[in-house]
Amino acid sequence: MYFDHNATSPMPEVVRSAISDAMANHWANPSSPHRLGQAAAIAVQRARSIVADRLSVRPKDVTFTSGATEANAWVLGKSSLPVLAASTEHPSVLEWADEVIPVDTNGVVDLDAIERRLRAGPVLVSVMAANNETGVIQPIADVRRLCQAAGAPLHCDATQWVGRMPNAVAADWLTVSAHKLGGPRGVGALIGEEPPPEMLLRGGSQERGRRGGTLNAPGIVGFGVAVEHSERFSSTERDRLEGFCRSRGAIIVGGGADRLPNTLCALFKHPGDMVVAGLDLEGIFASTGSACSSGSAQASHVLDAMGIRGVPVRFSLGPHTPAQPAIDALQRVLDRLESACA
Ligand code: PMP
Repeated sequence: MYFDHNATSPMPEVVRSAISDAMANHWANPSSPHRLGQAAAIAVQRARSIVADRLSVRPKDVTFTSGATEANAWVLGKSSLPVLAASTEHPSVLEWADEVIPVDTNGVVDLDAIERRLRAGPVLVSVMAANNETGVIQPIADVRRLCQAAGAPLHCDATQWVGRMPNAVAADWLTVSAHKLGGPRGVGALIGEEPPPEMLLRGGSQERGRRGGTLNAPGIVGFGVAVEHSERFSSTERDRLEGFCRSRGAIIVGGGADRLPNTLCALFKHPGDMVVAGLDLEGIFASTGSACSSGSAQASHVLDAMGIRGVPVRFSLGPHTPAQPAIDALQRVLDRLESACA
């Protein structure tokens, strides 16, 4: 059973069949002038409208990219202002940060630190909507108010938010990715009325001259269908699993903050990699942190920024993932680890 939706989510049948239909019928270049090309362009436009609608923006504010990493690199790498990013951002944001905003022990950004920095001079602020490792939700509306008062642009990486939370996030630029909400990997978008000051991918006039490169029409169609069919998440099953973890002495990372309803990051007495390996043998697929950092021996920069030591276990559920199989397996794994250590 799969408990790693924050790494990537499985594609529902409706998405897979829309993609294979687009591969069969909309394989032509959407920039071609003939009917076949125009049919592909119409399919792309339909997906653009669905994405725009969900995010409460205009279709022309959506620029399709190869994913969130590209969208982040575009806004932040091509910024004419220094970049101020939260210390718990995804590496594809932190890579471009000139200065970092500290977070508290729950992983929530320090609004006073942002306000102080805004007074000191122009800066582009980047704060994620929700963290991929802990699920901690940032007070984006408050950050936006501070930025607006100072005339500073705000970028928000909403990769883990869209598809999990019903309401739209407002920022000057938003980053989204299809594969966290049941769409294909390698597709995403940068949302914004204005493009960043410079193109990232030059050498083509696609996307209204904002991004060069032939559009991935089947992938974009899949993105649209995934958004259209994304379901409401409830925290009921996550909360049951969390209750069990607490009963076994686990500390919940970010437990004092608002969190995504599907994410649970728990620190057990035993190293998270041992628990995850034990769960794997039981057929429960969880992870120790982000897929980008797990597998490497490094500690998580997210927990580090929160002043927390240790390797956690991250469970990230889908809209219909039941908690019970993970609870049963976890019970056996923890019992085994405890008797081995006794
Ligand atoms: N930002 C966040 C918060 C993420 O969780 C991820 C994916 N792990 C990314 C950016 C990168 O997304 P993509 O795989 O679409 O490049």
